[in-house]
Amino acid sequence: MTPEGIWKWAQLKGIRVVGTGDFTHPGWLKELGNKLEPAQEGLFRLKQGCADRGAVPRSCSSDVFFLLSAEVSCIYRKNGRTRKVHCLILLPNLTQAAKISALLSKIGSVASDGRPILGLDAKDLLKMTIDVSPDGLFIPAHAWTPHFSVFGAASGFDSLEECFDDLTPEIRAIETGLSSDPPMNRRLSALDHVTLVSNSDAHSPAKMGREANIFNTDISYGAITEAIRTQKGFLGTIEFFPAEGKYHYDGHRSCGVCYQPSQTKSRNGVCPVCGKPLTIGVAHRVEALADREAAIMPVGAPTFREALRTGTEVYHALKKTLKEKKHRTSIGDEGGFAPDLSSNEEALDLICQAIEHALTIVTVDAAITQYPVATFGHKRPGS
Ligand SMILES: [Zn+2]
Ligand SMILES: [Zn+2]
Repeated sequence: MTPEGIWKWAQLKGIRVVGTGDFTHPGWLKELGNKLEPAQEGLFRLKQGCADRGAVPRSCSSDVFFLLSAEVSCIYRKNGRTRKVHCLILLPNLTQAAKISALLSKIGSVASDGRPILGLDAKDLLKMTIDVSPDGLFIPAHAWTPHFSVFGAASGFDSLEECFDDLTPEIRAIETGLSSDPPMNRRLSALDHVTLVSNSDAHSPAKMGREANIFNTDISYGAITEAIRTQKGFLGTIEFFPAEGKYHYDGHRSCGVCYQPSQTKSRNGVCPVCGKPLTIGVAHRVEALADREAAIMPVGAPTFREALRTGTEVYHALKKTLKEKKHRTSIGDEGGFAPDLSSNEEALDLICQAIEHALTIVTVDAAITQYPVATFGHKRPGS
């Protein structure tokens, strides 16, 4: 990756503002300083002399702005366990970037890797960011991946508070990562006030923008970070299906084992091929920490009236299905059923059956939401 390559590929992908990545690395920071110049407040653009206009077709040609960003891998012990948490830092100027790089260089090597690996508590890194830059933004990276994230099964925490203590209110956003998406994250009410951002985490230009954020703001560092902090002007993320992410399900890649959470549980978390503990993926981890259930969403309804009817029909069909299968049909505070089921799959299966039943009466699509990639194209012929 070079500033010129990022500039070219951002245009090919339709990206207006792109993170520089790796500002903690002295060599990269020097290159950024040489090839970029200040643009709109807190952002940078490629210097005229560096831009090869012929590299981009006219139809794609547009302004590209760089935003200073870096990722740090914090490995440390807290509350008796080893923690490994990757964190993103966004900054509005090169001086602050150099300052953070210098502070980190006292803790470990910042020159050996683009993303430094440091024996530093993530909370201390957050404190350092705030001290160096009141406008800096600190975001726990790919928050659910098993080995290197704030909620990761292997070496993360069960809550932001457990990781950041009294500084938790400073965490205004987390990154969903490639293996989770916003509906999965929204199953945790603890994240209701946290903006869900998504970045490509690309190691090659062609993968830039595979996940991205959509803003409706001025193009400036202040406007963009304010939108992330407040969710005003932040329109959401571009995601691919979380099941396509490397860590969505549980398993061992080298053993060819890929399990849904219930399969892992039924095998006591042990790999049937090598006998070692399975890597617990993102879906499993979300399930473990979530406090919200699966819900039915009438996605295909053309009007609110029909959406309401679909929801009602599916609800009643579900009650009938539960009754037929001798499950409890008493309802909880929010009107949801709470039957005793053996797995999430069984719950999804029952809801699917209810949707099937209900759709013999009504004629629109319904889907299950707040559960990964469970959308259904049931439609009565001719509807
Ligand atoms: Zn990372
Ligand atoms: Zn194995």
